[in-house]
Amino acid sequence: MLTASVLLLLATLAGYTLLCVASPFGTCRKCQGLGGKVVLDRKSRPKRAKPCRRCKGHGKRLRIGRRLANHGRAVHRAGTR
Ligand SMILES: [Zn+2]
Repeated sequence: MLTASVLLLLATLAGYTLLCVASPFGTCRKCQGLGGKVVLDRKSRPKRAKPCRRCKGHGKRLRIGRRLANHGRAVHRAGTR
């Protein structure tokens, strides 16, 4: 039972790592990838009101796994110089 759950956890981790390698950027969860708050103007056309603070208007964010990998690489480079 324990080995099964550990294997499942490892499989999930491996899948997430692959995902971080394949596409390091995910959609911003605050603005759903829109890059900011969208309001309708008087002609009821969608208009971008102001850029999202979390992704600075890009609509994309770096995945947590990728951020950890980047940080780890930076630490390693700083330590082995
Ligand atoms: Zn955003």
